[in-house]
Amino acid sequence: MENNSVQPAPTPGRLSGLLGCALLREVLCSSRAWVPSLLVRPCLGGPSWTRERTLVAVKPDGVQLRLVGDVIRRFERKGFKLVGMKMLQAPENVLAEHYHDLRRKPFYPALISYLSSGPGVAMVWEGPNVVCTSRAMIGHTDSAEAAPGTIRGDFSFHISRNIIHASDSVEGAQREIQRWFQSNEPVGWADEGHRSSLYTA
Ligand code: UDP
Ligand code: MG
Repeated sequence: MENNSVQPAPTPGRLSGLLGCALLREVLCSSRAWVPSLLVRPCLGGPSWTRERTLVAVKPDGVQLRLVGDVIRRFERKGFKLVGMKMLQAPENVLAEHYHDLRRKPFYPALISYLSSGPGVAMVWEGPNVVCTSRAMIGHTDSAEAAPGTIRGDFSFHISRNIIHASDSVEGAQREIQRWFQSNEPVGWADEGHRSSLYTA
């Protein structure tokens, strides 16, 4: 059911919280400022937005816990557009490439073993600021620190079984989508709904 309740006016305390969130978001999203403007797609009659895509993957523990539907539901309710999805048993060499930067970390062997333990579900989601917003939606890497309301905060309690992956920068997302999907696999589709003025050029 839709939540039509009226939001309370910001009190000074709440306002500073909101400003803090805005600041945090700015810091988290700051890499976006350096992305070439190739992705910018002007809209007619609506606000312009960057046609951004990101890779989100439900890890094997998320599949085992039957959380794929919950994840899709959260991203759809946010308004993002699902343009690619597949279940796969991740090959070790692709996982090694994906987590190359972490290869010297003590937890790396356990990480690869965990992600190889069963199938995962890889998805490509599209929408304005989808990279940064997805990171906020999945929550802190360490599930113990992930806020309630985030996917990791709600469904997991340990960093080594944190349910979900999401790209952490626009450039990283482009690389990761190419790594996990063939170029013809993600399918763009027209938006006919109430968000059409935001999505169509
Ligand atoms: N990880 C772990 N122990 C750690 C740090 C990370 O098992 O101390 C795992 C965890 O599954 C995490 C993944 O390694 O999601 C990749 O780490 P990263 O720092 O990239 O975090 P993420 O981008 O997933 O939030
Ligand atoms: Mg990461």
